[in-house]
Amino acid sequence: MQVGILGAGQLARMLVLAGVPLGMRFRVFDRSADAPAGQVAPITVGDFDDLAALAAFARDVDVVTFDWENVPVASARAVARDARVLPSPRALEVAQDRLSEKRIFTRLDIPVAPHAAVDDFAGLERAVRRVGLPGILKTRRLGYDGKGQAVLRRPADLQRAWHALGGQPLLYEGVVDFDCEVSLVAVRSRRGEVACYPLTWNVHSHGILSVSRAPFLRPRLQAQAQRHVGRLLEHLRYVGVFCVEFFVAGGRLVANEMAPRVHNSGHWTIEGAETSQFENHLRAIAGLPLGSTRARGHSVMVNCIGRMPPAARLLALPGVHVHDYGKSARPGRKLGHLTYVGGSASARDRMAARLLGRGRG
Ligand code: AMP
Repeated sequence: MQVGILGAGQLARMLVLAGVPLGMRFRVFDRSADAPAGQVAPITVGDFDDLAALAAFARDVDVVTFDWENVPVASARAVARDARVLPSPRALEVAQDRLSEKRIFTRLDIPVAPHAAVDDFAGLERAVRRVGLPGILKTRRLGYDGKGQAVLRRPADLQRAWHALGGQPLLYEGVVDFDCEVSLVAVRSRRGEVACYPLTWNVHSHGILSVSRAPFLRPRLQAQAQRHVGRLLEHLRYVGVFCVEFFVAGGRLVANEMAPRVHNSGHWTIEGAETSQFENHLRAIAGLPLGSTRARGHSVMVNCIGRMPPAARLLALPGVHVHDYGKSARPGRKLGHLTYVGGSASARDRMAARLLGRGRG
C-alpha cells in the first residue's frame, strides 16, 4: 500500500517509521525540501494550494492522510476527488477553527471554558464583560504551541492584547483554574471500531507541551474522556487517530482542543503501548484491524525544545530512548523527544526528573 502524507514534519516521519515494517510505502508532500519526513521518504515539494501538484501526488498513492491539520480545506476536498482522504476534510475544517471546535464540543454535551467570538475591539470589550477576567485571547486559526495567544488579567490589558492580535478572527476564553491537563488519544477504524489509549497527563510550559506521563490512572476520568471522544468520533465519522486535550477542573473534564491527527502527547506509545499511535493510525486508514492500545508500563515523554541534547549522554541512562527529528535548532522549536518506560510510576518519575535535568541540559 502506498500512503501519501500532506505535511512532512516529525509526525509524518514517525508515521513512515511505523509503517515500513507493515510493508507500506510512503510519499510525503511539503513546502520545504528539508522537512523531517523527507529524510525517510520521497518528498514532493509544493504549495498546499497548488491543486495540480496535489492531484499528481494523490494519483500515485492509495490513501492520503495528514501530518498537518492546517492544510487548506479546499485543497483537502480537491484531493478527495482523486484519492481516498482519511481523516475526512470535514474533520480538518472543524479543527482549524477554535470557534467551530467549541461549537461541536458544546453540541455534543462536552464541557468547554466560557468563551466568546471577537471580531473587533468593541467585541473584545463585550466578551470580557461577559466572560470576565482573567482570560485568554486566541487567534481562531493557525494558533499552536501557545502562539497567537495573549493573557488578559486587568482592564488595561485589552488594548495591548488587541494591538498584538487584532485584525483577524479571535476567540476570548475564560482562564480555567485547572488541577492538571490530560489528553485522550483514540483511533477509529474504517469499520467504526474505536480504541482508546490510557489518559495522558501533560505539563505545558509557555503553551508548549513539555512532559507527558501515562497511564494517568483515574478510571472515572478515563470513562468520561472515552464517552466524550467517542461521541466526537461518531459525529465526524472519523477514521484514524484523533486527540482531545482536556483540563481537569474540580474532578471533571473541560475540553480545550482537538487534533485530527497523531499527537505529541501520544509519542510515549511508541515504546510504551502495545501498538503505537502511529501504527494504529496507519492500520485505521489502510482498513486493517486496530492494535491493542494497552500500556506496557509507566511511560514518560520529555520534549526537546530549542536544543537537542547530545544522544550519548542520554543513551547512557538505561531504558531511555532518543527520538531526534533531524531538524535544525531554533528557540522554541520541537527538535525531538525522549521516552522511558518504567515498571512502576515511582521508577518512571525518578527517571523523568533526571531527563528533565539532562534533556534540557
Ligand atoms: P492551546 O494552544 O489552546 O492548546 O493552549 C496551550 C496551553 O495554554 C494549554 O495547554 C494550557 O496550558 C494553556 N491554556 C490555554 N487555554 C487555557 C484556558 N482557557 N485556561 C487555562 N489555561 C489555558
